[in-house]
Amino acid sequence: MLKIKNLESGYGKLKVLRKISIHVNPGEIVTIIGANGAGKTTLLNSIAGLVRLKSGEILFDKQDVLKFPPEKIVFMGCSLVPEGRQVFSTMTVKENLILGAYVQQRRKQRVIDLESIYSIFPVLKEREKQLAGTLSGGEQQMLAIGRALMAKPKLIMMDEPSMGLAPLIVKEIFNIVKRLRDEGNTVLLVEQNAKAALGIANRGYVLETGRIVLEGSSEDLLSNRDVQRAYLGRDLDSEMKI
Ligand code: ATP
Repeated sequence: MLKIKNLESGYGKLKVLRKISIHVNPGEIVTIIGANGAGKTTLLNSIAGLVRLKSGEILFDKQDVLKFPPEKIVFMGCSLVPEGRQVFSTMTVKENLILGAYVQQRRKQRVIDLESIYSIFPVLKEREKQLAGTLSGGEQQMLAIGRALMAKPKLIMMDEPSMGLAPLIVKEIFNIVKRLRDEGNTVLLVEQNAKAALGIANRGYVLETGRIVLEGSSEDLLSNRDVQRAYLGRDLDSEMKI
């Protein structure tokens, strides 16, 4: 569904991403894990057409996205749930969701979509008329995911959905992402919370200072000593001493 080859991208003269090659197959959750400033957001924004490439290739559904502006990329079926949610805080939950269906023209279709989103996130139905800015962080994240789903995307890209949320809420959000995959959706998930992300993903890539340094199945990455040391908070040396 998504195939990226030798992508180089950045801002002005600053090159952030170097020789990135990744792919996402239909029906998978693929995660990109990496520390602060590794370039995760830059990667998603490059795919979404918000940051322009310096070189390389991005094929989405066999089409070269570089030819298209960001709105056309959304129309092609690639939706982004941005870092920090970015819901429209002075609009209601329902209005935010309806905006997400902008790419769908028929009104009937929109109504059906609202109900399907409410079945995944019952709390959004309860809070339908509430202003989005008054929701809790976890509810705002659910709204941001629901809004992206309203576009009926082929690929949903999520930028650090766990950011700033309590562990129980992170668990709830990740269970929902897993459910979305089990229902046939395809997800590219960018996360600092490597444990949670690898816990639900099929495959993963480790991004360090703009380069992919490791890739593999989630099981392989979870049992990799470098990943454990750097991203899973396990101090293997002191464990050995015990
Ligand atoms: P975080 O987890 O903190 O969001 P990240 O892995 O998503 O980090 P990016 O936000 O992609 O990392 O940032 C990668 C690098 O690009 C950083 O050094 C950052 O300072 C730089 N950068 C990001 N956005 C811009 C911008 N608009 N202009 C210039 N430099 C930028």
